Amino acid sequence: MKSSTTKITFLAIYRFLDKVSPLDQDCGQLCGAACCTCGSQTDSCDLCDEDDFGIYLLPGEDKVFDRKEDWIGWEKNRAEDYEFPDSWHGTIYFLHCKTAPCCPREKRPLQCRFFPLAPHLDEEDVLHIVYQDGELTYDCPLISQKIPLNEDFIHATYTVWKHLIRDPLLYDLVVLDSDFRIEEHGDEIEYLYP
Ligand code: SF4
Ligand code: SF4
Repeated sequence: MKSSTTKITFLAIYRFLDKVSPLDQDCGQLCGAACCTCGSQTDSCDLCDEDDFGIYLLPGEDKVFDRKEDWIGWEKNRAEDYEFPDSWHGTIYFLHCKTAPCCPREKRPLQCRFFPLAPHLDEEDVLHIVYQDGELTYDCPLISQKIPLNEDFIHATYTVWKHLIRDPLLYDLVVLDSDFRIEEHGDEIEYLYP
């Protein structure tokens, strides 16, 4: 799939997000790194097994990897076969995390860096940052206990998405997710920023 976001831009965003994190401490210690292991370090999970641990790359993000990384396995999927935007055609990559929850921090894909936050476009097409509210098979205490997040993490996530939605494929993804959210939660959506 042809993305307008370049490798240089992805790398610059990785470096920018390397400087922030949700909390000053490692939040993985609160939950056994549930978002990397589907919660299996704290609870048993019937919905996934070890082979499922992983994360989707955004379109074009595969350019950041040289395919020699021994900590990930590559799964090639067709965007049309999943609930991605209609404008997405062709290959989309799912990375299997072979060493979850441990991985090279500076190599984490973008979706790992944003969690537990997500971009949201309101009905006037204004960008906000909200909690990730898709169906999860585990409990993220940052969301369920509303543990206050570092402001620089929230602001950096906003700044990055402000840039990323200039890419039509990523804009369409945010619109799709936002429309679901508006349908599901309407006026109750909580904006964390702005
Ligand atoms: S983001 Fe949530 S689920 Fe993931 S490690 Fe931090 S507290 Fe745990
Ligand atoms: S890439 Fe790393 S941070 Fe992301 S889900 Fe896999 S093990 Fe967790």
